[in-house]
Amino acid sequence: MTLTGELFIAGERRRTDSHFVAHDPAAGADIAEPKFSGATLFDVADACAAADAAFDIYRGKPLEERALFLEAIADEIEALGDVLIERASRESGLPVARITGERGRTAGQLRLFAKEVRDGQWQKLRIDHADPARTPPKPDLRLRMIPLGPVAVFGASNFPLAFSTAGGDTASALAAGCPVVVKGHSAHPGTAELISGAIARAAAKTGMPAGVFSMVNGTTRAVGEALVADPRIQAVGFTGSRGGGEALMRIAAARPRPIPVYAEMSAINPVILLPHALKARGGALAEAYVASLTMGSGQFCTNPGLVLGIDGPDLDAFAGKAGDVLTGAPAQTMLTPGIHKAYESGKEALANSDYVTKLAEGAAPEGPTRGRAALFSVTAKDFFADPVHLHEVFGASSVLVRCADLDELIGVIGQLEGQLTATLQLEAEDHDAARRLLPVLERTVGRILANGWPTGVEVTHAMVHGGPYPATSDARTTSVGTLAIDRFLRPVCYQDLPDGLLPSALREGAQAGVVARIDGKWQS
Ligand code: NAP
Repeated sequence: MTLTGELFIAGERRRTDSHFVAHDPAAGADIAEPKFSGATLFDVADACAAADAAFDIYRGKPLEERALFLEAIADEIEALGDVLIERASRESGLPVARITGERGRTAGQLRLFAKEVRDGQWQKLRIDHADPARTPPKPDLRLRMIPLGPVAVFGASNFPLAFSTAGGDTASALAAGCPVVVKGHSAHPGTAELISGAIARAAAKTGMPAGVFSMVNGTTRAVGEALVADPRIQAVGFTGSRGGGEALMRIAAARPRPIPVYAEMSAINPVILLPHALKARGGALAEAYVASLTMGSGQFCTNPGLVLGIDGPDLDAFAGKAGDVLTGAPAQTMLTPGIHKAYESGKEALANSDYVTKLAEGAAPEGPTRGRAALFSVTAKDFFADPVHLHEVFGASSVLVRCADLDELIGVIGQLEGQLTATLQLEAEDHDAARRLLPVLERTVGRILANGWPTGVEVTHAMVHGGPYPATSDARTTSVGTLAIDRFLRPVCYQDLPDGLLPSALREGAQAGVVARIDGKWQS
Protein backbone atom coordinates (compact mmCIF):
# COMPACT_ATOMS: atom_id res chain seq x y z
CA MET A 1 0.00 0.00 0.00
CA THR A 2 1.69 3.21 -1.19
CA LEU A 3 1.11 6.42 0.71
CA THR A 4 0.13 9.40 -1.45
CA GLY A 5 -0.01 12.12 1.20
CA GLU A 6 -3.53 13.15 0.20
CA LEU A 7 -6.46 14.30 2.31
CA PHE A 8 -9.76 12.41 2.39
CA ILE A 9 -12.81 14.53 1.71
CA ALA A 10 -16.04 12.52 1.61
CA GLY A 11 -14.45 9.39 0.17
CA GLU A 12 -12.28 11.27 -2.37
CA ARG A 13 -8.55 11.75 -2.08
CA ARG A 14 -7.43 15.35 -2.48
CA ARG A 15 -4.03 16.98 -3.01
CA THR A 16 -3.13 20.59 -2.12
CA ASP A 17 -0.23 22.95 -2.75
CA SER A 18 0.92 23.18 0.86
CA HIS A 19 3.08 20.32 2.10
CA PHE A 20 4.67 18.87 5.18
CA VAL A 21 6.58 15.68 5.93
CA ALA A 22 6.44 13.08 8.69
CA HIS A 23 9.23 12.61 11.23
CA ASP A 24 10.99 9.47 12.51
CA PRO A 25 11.76 10.30 16.16
CA ALA A 26 13.96 7.22 16.75
CA ALA A 27 16.24 8.22 13.86
CA GLY A 28 15.89 11.92 14.64
CA ALA A 29 15.20 12.59 10.94
CA ASP A 30 12.34 13.62 8.69
CA ILE A 31 10.80 11.03 6.37
CA ALA A 32 11.27 12.70 2.99
CA GLU A 33 8.47 10.93 1.08
CA PRO A 34 5.61 11.25 0.63
CA LYS A 35 4.90 14.94 1.02
CA PHE A 36 1.62 15.32 2.90
CA SER A 37 -0.94 17.83 1.73
CA GLY A 38 -1.96 20.44 4.26
CA ALA A 39 -5.67 21.26 4.11
CA THR A 40 -6.84 24.72 3.11
CA LEU A 41 -9.81 26.38 4.75
CA PHE A 42 -11.81 25.43 1.62
CA ASP A 43 -10.99 21.75 2.23
CA VAL A 44 -12.17 22.06 5.83
CA ALA A 45 -15.41 23.70 4.68
CA ASP A 46 -15.95 21.01 2.03
CA ALA A 47 -15.48 18.25 4.60
CA CYS A 48 -17.97 19.90 6.97
CA ALA A 49 -20.51 20.47 4.18
CA ALA A 50 -20.24 16.81 3.13
CA ALA A 51 -20.67 15.68 6.76
CA ASP A 52 -23.73 17.88 7.12
CA ALA A 53 -25.23 16.52 3.89
CA ALA A 54 -24.56 12.95 5.04
CA PHE A 55 -26.05 13.41 8.50
CA ASP A 56 -29.73 12.72 7.88
CA ILE A 57 -28.97 9.86 5.49
CA TYR A 58 -26.53 8.24 7.90
CA ARG A 59 -28.64 8.58 11.03
CA GLY A 60 -31.64 7.27 9.11
CA LYS A 61 -29.91 3.99 8.22
CA PRO A 62 -31.16 0.90 10.09
CA LEU A 63 -29.08 0.21 13.21
CA GLU A 64 -27.92 -3.11 11.78
CA GLU A 65 -26.35 -1.29 8.79
CA ARG A 66 -24.62 1.18 11.12
CA ALA A 67 -23.23 -1.73 13.12
CA LEU A 68 -22.00 -3.47 9.96
CA PHE A 69 -20.19 -0.25 8.97
CA LEU A 70 -18.30 -0.17 12.30
CA GLU A 71 -17.37 -3.83 11.93
CA ALA A 72 -16.21 -3.23 8.36
CA ILE A 73 -13.88 -0.45 9.58
CA ALA A 74 -12.33 -2.92 12.06
CA ASP A 75 -11.92 -5.51 9.29
CA GLU A 76 -10.33 -2.98 6.91
CA ILE A 77 -7.90 -1.80 9.60
CA GLU A 78 -6.80 -5.38 10.28
CA ALA A 79 -6.48 -6.01 6.54
CA LEU A 80 -3.83 -3.24 6.36
CA GLY A 81 -1.51 -5.75 8.04
CA ASP A 82 2.14 -4.97 8.75
CA VAL A 83 2.12 -1.81 6.61
CA LEU A 84 0.04 -0.09 9.28
CA ILE A 85 2.08 -1.46 12.18
CA GLU A 86 5.41 -0.45 10.64
CA ARG A 87 4.23 3.03 9.68
CA ALA A 88 2.64 3.80 13.06
CA SER A 89 5.75 2.52 14.85
CA ARG A 90 8.07 4.58 12.66
CA GLU A 91 6.07 7.80 13.05
CA SER A 92 5.62 7.46 16.82
CA GLY A 93 8.80 5.71 17.97
CA LEU A 94 6.54 3.24 19.82
CA PRO A 95 7.63 -0.41 19.63
CA VAL A 96 5.96 -2.77 17.15
CA ALA A 97 4.55 -4.94 19.97
CA ARG A 98 2.87 -1.91 21.56
CA ILE A 99 1.38 -0.76 18.23
CA THR A 100 0.17 -4.29 17.49
CA GLY A 101 -1.65 -4.35 20.82
CA GLU A 102 -3.10 -0.93 20.12
CA ARG A 103 -4.44 -2.12 16.75
CA GLY A 104 -6.23 -4.98 18.56
CA ARG A 105 -7.75 -2.52 20.99
CA THR A 106 -8.83 -0.19 18.16
CA ALA A 107 -10.54 -2.96 16.19
CA GLY A 108 -12.00 -4.36 19.42
CA GLN A 109 -13.58 -1.08 20.42
CA LEU A 110 -15.12 -0.60 16.96
CA ARG A 111 -16.69 -4.06 17.28
CA LEU A 112 -17.85 -3.31 20.82
CA PHE A 113 -19.60 -0.15 19.58
CA ALA A 114 -21.19 -2.19 16.77
CA LYS A 115 -22.74 -4.42 19.48
CA GLU A 116 -23.79 -1.34 21.40
CA VAL A 117 -25.55 0.07 18.33
CA ARG A 118 -27.47 -3.21 17.81
CA ASP A 119 -28.38 -3.40 21.50
CA GLY A 120 -30.30 -0.14 21.09
CA GLN A 121 -30.54 0.78 24.79
CA TRP A 122 -28.56 3.96 24.17
CA GLN A 123 -31.77 5.36 22.63
CA LYS A 124 -33.20 5.58 26.21
CA LEU A 125 -36.78 5.15 25.01
CA ARG A 126 -39.49 6.55 27.30
CA ILE A 127 -43.23 6.68 26.76
CA ASP A 128 -45.79 8.42 28.99
CA HIS A 129 -49.25 7.67 27.62
CA ALA A 130 -51.90 10.36 27.41
CA ASP A 131 -54.62 10.68 30.04
CA PRO A 132 -57.45 12.69 28.43
CA ALA A 133 -59.61 12.22 31.57
CA ARG A 134 -57.16 14.11 33.77
CA THR A 135 -57.74 17.77 34.49
CA PRO A 136 -55.99 19.29 32.68
CA PRO A 137 -55.65 16.47 30.12
CA LYS A 138 -52.23 14.84 30.09
CA PRO A 139 -50.59 14.69 26.62
CA ASP A 140 -48.86 11.65 25.08
CA LEU A 141 -45.08 12.12 25.52
CA ARG A 142 -42.36 10.00 23.90
CA LEU A 143 -38.59 10.47 24.21
CA ARG A 144 -35.58 9.08 22.41
CA MET A 145 -31.93 10.12 22.04
CA ILE A 146 -30.84 11.38 18.63
CA PRO A 147 -27.32 12.11 17.34
CA LEU A 148 -26.01 15.68 17.67
CA GLY A 149 -24.76 16.08 14.08
CA PRO A 150 -21.27 16.17 12.51
CA VAL A 151 -18.46 15.73 15.05
CA ALA A 152 -14.87 17.03 14.78
CA VAL A 153 -12.29 14.62 16.19
CA PHE A 154 -8.73 15.48 17.30
CA GLY A 155 -6.51 12.50 18.19
CA ALA A 156 -3.43 12.39 20.40
CA SER A 157 0.14 11.61 19.38
CA ASN A 158 0.67 8.96 22.07
CA PHE A 159 -2.04 6.61 20.76
CA PRO A 160 -1.75 6.85 16.96
CA LEU A 161 -4.47 4.20 16.57
CA ALA A 162 -6.66 3.87 19.67
CA PHE A 163 -7.04 7.64 20.37
CA SER A 164 -6.71 8.89 16.81
CA THR A 165 -8.32 8.67 13.35
CA ALA A 166 -10.47 5.59 14.06
CA GLY A 167 -10.06 5.71 17.85
CA GLY A 168 -12.60 5.88 20.63
CA ASP A 169 -13.99 9.33 19.76
CA THR A 170 -14.57 8.40 16.10
CA ALA A 171 -16.03 4.99 17.01
CA SER A 172 -18.45 6.43 19.58
CA ALA A 173 -19.52 9.34 17.33
CA LEU A 174 -20.17 7.03 14.37
CA ALA A 175 -22.03 4.64 16.70
CA ALA A 176 -24.24 7.51 17.84
CA GLY A 177 -25.10 8.29 14.19
CA CYS A 178 -22.82 11.30 13.75
CA PRO A 179 -20.63 11.83 10.66
CA VAL A 180 -17.00 12.54 11.62
CA VAL A 181 -14.39 14.98 10.33
CA VAL A 182 -10.96 14.09 11.74
CA LYS A 183 -8.18 16.61 12.11
CA GLY A 184 -5.27 14.27 11.29
CA HIS A 185 -2.45 14.47 13.86
CA SER A 186 0.66 16.06 12.37
CA ALA A 187 2.87 13.56 14.24
CA HIS A 188 1.48 10.54 12.36
CA PRO A 189 0.13 11.62 8.94
CA GLY A 190 0.97 8.33 7.19
CA THR A 191 -0.89 6.36 9.86
CA ALA A 192 -3.84 8.76 9.52
CA GLU A 193 -3.87 8.26 5.74
CA LEU A 194 -3.86 4.46 6.02
CA ILE A 195 -6.69 4.47 8.57
CA SER A 196 -8.68 7.04 6.59
CA GLY A 197 -8.45 4.78 3.52
CA ALA A 198 -9.75 1.89 5.64
CA ILE A 199 -12.74 3.93 6.85
CA ALA A 200 -13.52 5.20 3.32
CA ARG A 201 -13.43 1.63 1.96
CA ALA A 202 -15.68 0.41 4.78
CA ALA A 203 -18.15 3.24 4.06
CA ALA A 204 -18.26 2.39 0.35
CA LYS A 205 -18.65 -1.36 1.00
CA THR A 206 -21.52 -0.92 3.45
CA GLY A 207 -23.39 1.71 1.44
CA MET A 208 -22.83 4.66 3.76
CA PRO A 209 -22.97 8.23 2.39
CA ALA A 210 -19.45 9.36 1.44
CA GLY A 211 -19.59 12.41 3.73
CA VAL A 212 -19.86 10.18 6.79
CA PHE A 213 -16.08 10.49 7.17
CA SER A 214 -13.39 12.98 6.13
CA MET A 215 -9.83 13.62 7.27
CA VAL A 216 -8.13 17.00 6.98
CA ASN A 217 -4.47 17.30 7.76
CA GLY A 218 -2.10 20.16 8.36
CA THR A 219 0.55 21.54 10.66
CA THR A 220 -0.96 24.99 11.14
CA ARG A 221 -3.42 25.65 13.96
CA ALA A 222 -5.76 27.25 11.39
CA VAL A 223 -7.02 23.85 10.18
CA GLY A 224 -8.22 22.69 13.60
CA GLU A 225 -9.51 26.13 14.52
CA ALA A 226 -11.57 26.39 11.32
CA LEU A 227 -12.97 22.91 11.90
CA VAL A 228 -14.22 23.75 15.40
CA ALA A 229 -15.58 27.11 14.24
CA ASP A 230 -17.49 25.65 11.28
CA PRO A 231 -21.24 26.08 11.94
CA ARG A 232 -22.00 22.58 10.65
CA ILE A 233 -19.89 20.92 13.35
CA GLN A 234 -22.07 20.13 16.40
CA ALA A 235 -19.55 18.65 18.88
CA VAL A 236 -15.83 18.08 19.33
CA GLY A 237 -13.97 15.03 20.64
CA PHE A 238 -10.41 15.92 21.61
CA THR A 239 -7.57 13.93 23.18
CA GLY A 240 -4.34 15.77 23.79
CA SER A 241 -2.67 18.48 25.78
CA ARG A 242 -4.41 20.86 28.18
CA GLY A 243 -3.27 23.84 26.11
CA GLY A 244 -4.73 22.36 22.92
CA GLY A 245 -8.01 21.33 24.56
CA GLU A 246 -8.51 24.71 26.20
CA ALA A 247 -7.77 26.56 22.92
CA LEU A 248 -10.47 24.55 21.15
CA MET A 249 -12.93 25.02 24.05
CA ARG A 250 -12.52 28.80 23.73
CA ILE A 251 -13.28 28.66 19.99
CA ALA A 252 -16.32 26.43 20.54
CA ALA A 253 -17.67 28.72 23.28
CA ALA A 254 -17.21 31.85 21.16
CA ARG A 255 -19.26 30.55 18.21
CA PRO A 256 -22.63 32.20 17.58
CA ARG A 257 -24.01 28.74 18.46
CA PRO A 258 -21.60 27.26 21.03
CA ILE A 259 -21.07 23.51 20.96
CA PRO A 260 -19.80 20.95 23.51
CA VAL A 261 -16.11 20.04 23.50
CA TYR A 262 -15.29 16.70 25.09
CA ALA A 263 -11.60 17.24 25.76
CA GLU A 264 -9.54 14.55 27.47
CA MET A 265 -6.48 16.42 28.67
CA SER A 266 -3.87 16.20 31.39
CA ALA A 267 -3.52 14.32 34.67
CA ILE A 268 -0.85 13.35 37.19
CA ASN A 269 -2.73 10.33 38.58
CA PRO A 270 -1.85 10.10 42.29
CA VAL A 271 -0.77 6.75 43.72
CA ILE A 272 -1.26 6.49 47.51
CA LEU A 273 1.00 4.13 49.45
CA LEU A 274 -0.92 3.27 52.62
CA PRO A 275 1.24 2.38 55.63
CA HIS A 276 0.65 -1.37 55.91
CA ALA A 277 1.13 -1.92 52.18
CA LEU A 278 4.33 0.11 52.32
CA LYS A 279 5.63 -1.98 55.24
CA ALA A 280 4.59 -5.34 53.78
CA ARG A 281 5.81 -4.89 50.19
CA GLY A 282 7.58 -1.55 49.78
CA GLY A 283 10.38 -3.04 47.64
CA ALA A 284 8.02 -4.74 45.20
CA LEU A 285 5.89 -1.58 45.05
CA ALA A 286 8.98 0.48 44.16
CA GLU A 287 9.84 -1.87 41.29
CA ALA A 288 6.27 -1.93 39.97
CA TYR A 289 6.01 1.86 40.26
CA VAL A 290 9.14 2.45 38.17
CA ALA A 291 7.93 -0.09 35.59
CA SER A 292 4.58 1.74 35.30
CA LEU A 293 6.27 5.15 35.23
CA THR A 294 8.77 4.31 32.49
CA MET A 295 6.49 2.19 30.28
CA GLY A 296 6.29 3.75 26.80
CA SER A 297 8.71 6.47 27.97
CA GLY A 298 6.01 7.58 30.41
CA GLN A 299 3.85 8.94 27.58
CA PHE A 300 0.49 7.90 28.98
CA CYS A 301 -2.24 10.20 30.20
CA THR A 302 -2.59 7.71 33.09
CA ASN A 303 1.09 7.82 34.00
CA PRO A 304 1.69 7.82 37.80
CA GLY A 305 3.11 11.34 38.04
CA LEU A 306 2.50 11.65 41.79
CA VAL A 307 3.15 9.20 44.66
CA LEU A 308 2.10 9.97 48.21
CA GLY A 309 3.12 8.24 51.43
CA ILE A 310 3.49 8.90 55.14
CA ASP A 311 7.01 9.88 56.10
CA GLY A 312 9.18 7.35 57.97
CA PRO A 313 11.68 4.52 57.41
CA ASP A 314 9.29 2.54 55.16
CA LEU A 315 8.86 5.48 52.82
CA ASP A 316 12.64 6.08 52.88
CA ALA A 317 13.21 2.46 51.88
CA PHE A 318 10.62 2.77 49.09
CA ALA A 319 12.25 5.96 47.77
CA GLY A 320 15.72 4.40 47.92
CA LYS A 321 14.65 1.29 46.03
CA ALA A 322 12.65 3.26 43.41
CA GLY A 323 15.68 5.52 42.91
CA ASP A 324 18.00 2.52 42.44
CA VAL A 325 15.70 0.87 39.89
CA LEU A 326 15.08 4.11 38.02
CA THR A 327 18.81 4.91 37.78
CA GLY A 328 19.26 1.91 35.48
CA ALA A 329 16.21 2.66 33.29
CA PRO A 330 17.27 3.25 29.67
CA ALA A 331 16.27 6.53 28.01
CA GLN A 332 13.49 5.78 25.50
CA THR A 333 12.39 7.41 22.27
CA MET A 334 9.70 10.03 22.75
CA LEU A 335 6.90 10.74 20.27
CA THR A 336 8.07 14.00 18.75
CA PRO A 337 10.93 16.47 19.15
CA GLY A 338 8.37 18.95 20.56
CA ILE A 339 7.18 16.53 23.26
CA HIS A 340 10.81 15.67 24.09
CA LYS A 341 11.66 19.36 24.47
CA ALA A 342 8.60 20.00 26.64
CA TYR A 343 9.55 17.01 28.81
CA GLU A 344 13.07 18.29 29.32
CA SER A 345 11.86 21.76 30.28
CA GLY A 346 9.20 20.28 32.62
CA LYS A 347 11.89 18.29 34.45
CA GLU A 348 14.14 21.34 34.57
CA ALA A 349 11.38 23.41 36.15
CA LEU A 350 10.91 20.74 38.83
CA ALA A 351 14.66 20.48 39.43
CA ASN A 352 14.85 24.27 39.81
CA SER A 353 12.06 24.41 42.40
CA ASP A 354 13.35 25.54 45.78
CA TYR A 355 11.24 22.89 47.47
CA VAL A 356 12.11 19.82 45.40
CA THR A 357 14.91 17.24 45.70
CA LYS A 358 15.91 15.15 42.70
CA LEU A 359 16.02 11.54 43.95
CA ALA A 360 17.21 9.82 40.79
CA GLU A 361 17.60 10.07 37.05
CA GLY A 362 17.58 7.30 34.44
CA ALA A 363 20.46 6.27 32.17
CA ALA A 364 21.88 8.89 29.80
CA PRO A 365 20.30 8.98 26.33
CA GLU A 366 22.05 7.12 23.53
CA GLY A 367 20.18 8.58 20.58
CA PRO A 368 17.96 11.46 19.45
CA THR A 369 14.58 12.29 21.01
CA ARG A 370 15.31 10.02 24.01
CA GLY A 371 13.65 10.89 27.33
CA ARG A 372 15.56 10.24 30.55
CA ALA A 373 13.33 9.15 33.44
CA ALA A 374 13.40 11.22 36.64
CA LEU A 375 12.12 11.01 40.21
CA PHE A 376 11.69 14.00 42.51
CA SER A 377 10.64 14.42 46.13
CA VAL A 378 8.82 17.20 48.04
CA THR A 379 7.16 17.48 51.45
CA ALA A 380 3.38 17.85 51.62
CA LYS A 381 3.92 21.13 53.47
CA ASP A 382 5.71 22.58 50.42
CA PHE A 383 3.73 20.82 47.71
CA PHE A 384 1.37 23.69 46.96
CA ALA A 385 4.05 26.36 47.36
CA ASP A 386 4.93 26.26 43.64
CA PRO A 387 2.40 25.37 40.89
CA VAL A 388 5.21 23.69 38.98
CA HIS A 389 4.86 20.67 41.32
CA LEU A 390 1.28 20.12 40.10
CA HIS A 391 1.78 20.32 36.35
CA GLU A 392 1.72 17.24 34.17
CA VAL A 393 5.24 16.60 32.85
CA PHE A 394 4.32 14.38 29.92
CA GLY A 395 6.93 11.60 30.08
CA ALA A 396 8.63 9.40 32.69
CA SER A 397 8.87 11.99 35.46
CA SER A 398 7.21 11.62 38.86
CA VAL A 399 7.09 13.41 42.22
CA LEU A 400 7.05 11.67 45.62
CA VAL A 401 5.08 13.66 48.22
CA ARG A 402 6.11 13.01 51.83
CA CYS A 403 3.17 13.54 54.21
CA ALA A 404 3.43 13.89 58.00
CA ASP A 405 0.33 11.77 58.61
CA LEU A 406 -2.92 10.54 57.02
CA ASP A 407 -4.70 13.85 57.67
CA GLU A 408 -2.07 15.74 55.74
CA LEU A 409 -2.19 13.18 52.92
CA ILE A 410 -5.99 13.50 52.67
CA GLY A 411 -5.55 17.29 52.69
CA VAL A 412 -3.22 17.10 49.68
CA ILE A 413 -5.59 14.86 47.71
CA GLY A 414 -8.49 17.18 48.51
CA GLN A 415 -6.69 20.15 46.98
CA LEU A 416 -5.59 18.44 43.76
CA GLU A 417 -7.09 19.37 40.41
CA GLY A 418 -9.31 16.80 38.71
CA GLN A 419 -7.57 13.57 37.73
CA LEU A 420 -8.24 10.61 35.46
CA THR A 421 -7.24 8.07 38.13
CA ALA A 422 -6.15 7.55 41.72
CA THR A 423 -4.57 4.35 43.00
CA LEU A 424 -4.58 2.94 46.52
CA GLN A 425 -1.85 0.49 47.52
CA LEU A 426 -3.36 -1.17 50.57
CA GLU A 427 -3.53 -4.21 52.85
CA ALA A 428 -6.57 -5.27 54.91
CA GLU A 429 -5.20 -3.24 57.86
CA ASP A 430 -5.31 -0.11 55.65
CA HIS A 431 -9.05 -0.33 54.99
CA ASP A 432 -10.01 2.21 57.65
CA ALA A 433 -7.63 4.74 56.10
CA ALA A 434 -8.98 3.89 52.64
CA ARG A 435 -12.55 4.46 53.86
CA ARG A 436 -11.57 7.99 54.85
CA LEU A 437 -9.89 8.59 51.50
CA LEU A 438 -12.59 7.23 49.20
CA PRO A 439 -15.10 10.13 49.44
CA VAL A 440 -12.28 12.60 48.74
CA LEU A 441 -11.07 10.52 45.79
CA GLU A 442 -14.59 10.27 44.36
CA ARG A 443 -14.72 14.06 44.23
CA THR A 444 -11.36 14.28 42.49
CA VAL A 445 -10.99 11.46 39.96
CA GLY A 446 -12.78 9.38 37.32
CA ARG A 447 -11.37 5.92 38.22
CA ILE A 448 -10.21 4.57 41.59
CA LEU A 449 -7.89 1.53 41.56
CA ALA A 450 -6.75 -0.79 44.34
CA ASN A 451 -3.37 -2.54 44.27
CA GLY A 452 -2.82 -1.98 40.55
CA TRP A 453 -1.22 0.70 38.37
CA PRO A 454 -3.14 3.28 36.40
CA THR A 455 -1.45 2.73 33.03
CA GLY A 456 -3.67 0.38 31.01
CA VAL A 457 -7.31 1.23 30.30
CA GLU A 458 -9.77 -1.60 29.56
CA VAL A 459 -12.41 -0.87 26.92
CA THR A 460 -15.61 -2.15 28.53
CA HIS A 461 -19.08 -1.04 29.60
CA ALA A 462 -18.04 -0.02 33.14
CA MET A 463 -14.82 1.86 32.27
CA VAL A 464 -14.55 5.56 33.04
CA HIS A 465 -11.70 7.36 31.35
CA GLY A 466 -12.64 10.83 32.44
CA GLY A 467 -12.71 12.95 35.54
CA PRO A 468 -13.15 16.51 36.80
CA TYR A 469 -11.39 19.43 35.11
CA PRO A 470 -8.67 19.54 33.82
CA ALA A 471 -8.50 15.76 33.38
CA THR A 472 -11.42 16.40 31.04
CA SER A 473 -13.56 19.35 30.05
CA ASP A 474 -16.76 17.54 31.13
CA ALA A 475 -16.69 15.14 34.08
CA ARG A 476 -20.14 13.73 33.31
CA THR A 477 -18.89 11.21 30.82
CA THR A 478 -15.97 9.11 29.56
CA SER A 479 -13.93 8.85 26.36
CA VAL A 480 -13.31 5.10 26.73
CA GLY A 481 -15.98 2.40 26.99
CA THR A 482 -19.53 2.21 25.69
CA LEU A 483 -20.80 5.09 27.85
CA ALA A 484 -18.78 7.37 25.51
CA ILE A 485 -21.67 7.21 23.03
CA ASP A 486 -23.75 9.47 25.33
CA ARG A 487 -21.49 12.44 24.52
CA PHE A 488 -22.86 12.64 21.01
CA LEU A 489 -26.57 12.21 21.72
CA ARG A 490 -29.36 14.49 22.91
CA PRO A 491 -32.97 13.83 23.93
CA VAL A 492 -35.95 14.79 21.77
CA CYS A 493 -39.52 14.58 23.05
CA TYR A 494 -42.51 14.01 20.73
CA GLN A 495 -45.82 15.28 22.13
CA ASP A 496 -49.11 13.92 20.75
CA LEU A 497 -47.58 12.95 17.40
CA PRO A 498 -49.76 10.57 15.36
CA ASP A 499 -48.30 7.04 15.50
CA GLY A 500 -47.45 7.07 11.79
CA LEU A 501 -45.30 10.19 12.23
CA LEU A 502 -43.32 8.87 15.20
CA PRO A 503 -39.83 7.37 14.80
CA SER A 504 -40.35 3.62 14.44
CA ALA A 505 -38.72 2.85 17.82
CA LEU A 506 -41.35 4.97 19.60
CA ARG A 507 -44.47 3.67 17.87
CA GLU A 508 -47.03 1.90 20.02
CA GLY A 509 -45.92 -1.66 20.85
CA ALA A 510 -42.59 -1.39 18.98
CA GLN A 511 -40.33 -1.65 22.06
CA ALA A 512 -40.04 -5.48 22.24
CA GLY A 513 -36.50 -6.57 23.18
CA VAL A 514 -35.33 -3.07 24.10
CA VAL A 515 -35.30 -1.64 27.60
CA ALA A 516 -37.86 1.18 27.67
CA ARG A 517 -39.54 3.18 30.43
CA ILE A 518 -43.25 3.03 29.80
CA ASP A 519 -45.55 4.99 32.09
CA GLY A 520 -42.73 5.14 34.62
CA LYS A 521 -42.04 1.39 34.68
CA TRP A 522 -38.94 -0.19 33.16
CA GLN A 523 -39.70 -3.00 30.71
CA SER A 524 -37.60 -5.09 28.36
P1 NAP B 1 -1.70 18.06 21.37
O1 NAP B 1 -0.39 18.64 21.04
O2 NAP B 1 -2.64 18.88 22.17
O3 NAP B 1 -2.35 17.67 19.96
C1 NAP B 1 -3.62 17.02 19.83
C2 NAP B 1 -4.29 17.50 18.54
O4 NAP B 1 -4.83 18.80 18.74
C3 NAP B 1 -3.38 17.63 17.34
O5 NAP B 1 -4.13 17.32 16.17
C4 NAP B 1 -3.02 19.09 17.33
O6 NAP B 1 -2.66 19.61 16.06
C5 NAP B 1 -4.29 19.72 17.81
N1 NAP B 1 -4.09 20.99 18.50
C6 NAP B 1 -3.34 21.17 19.63
N2 NAP B 1 -3.41 22.47 20.01
C7 NAP B 1 -4.20 23.10 19.11
C8 NAP B 1 -4.63 24.45 18.97
N3 NAP B 1 -4.26 25.40 19.82
N4 NAP B 1 -5.44 24.76 17.93
C9 NAP B 1 -5.82 23.80 17.05
N5 NAP B 1 -5.42 22.51 17.14
C10 NAP B 1 -4.63 22.15 18.16
O7 NAP B 1 -1.54 16.69 22.18
P2 NAP B 1 -0.48 15.52 21.91
O8 NAP B 1 0.88 16.00 22.14
O9 NAP B 1 -0.80 14.88 20.64
O10 NAP B 1 -0.82 14.45 23.04
C11 NAP B 1 -0.12 14.40 24.27
C12 NAP B 1 -1.00 14.96 25.38
O11 NAP B 1 -2.26 14.28 25.35
C13 NAP B 1 -0.49 14.72 26.79
O12 NAP B 1 -0.68 15.88 27.56
C14 NAP B 1 -1.36 13.58 27.32
O13 NAP B 1 -1.50 13.53 28.71
C15 NAP B 1 -2.64 13.87 26.64
N6 NAP B 1 -3.48 12.70 26.51
C16 NAP B 1 -4.64 12.67 27.22
C17 NAP B 1 -5.44 11.55 27.15
C18 NAP B 1 -6.70 11.50 27.97
O14 NAP B 1 -7.53 10.64 27.72
N7 NAP B 1 -6.90 12.37 28.94
C19 NAP B 1 -5.09 10.46 26.33
C20 NAP B 1 -3.92 10.53 25.61
C21 NAP B 1 -3.12 11.69 25.70
P3 NAP B 1 -1.22 19.34 15.40
O15 NAP B 1 -1.27 17.97 14.85
O16 NAP B 1 -1.11 20.38 14.36
O17 NAP B 1 -0.21 19.49 16.51
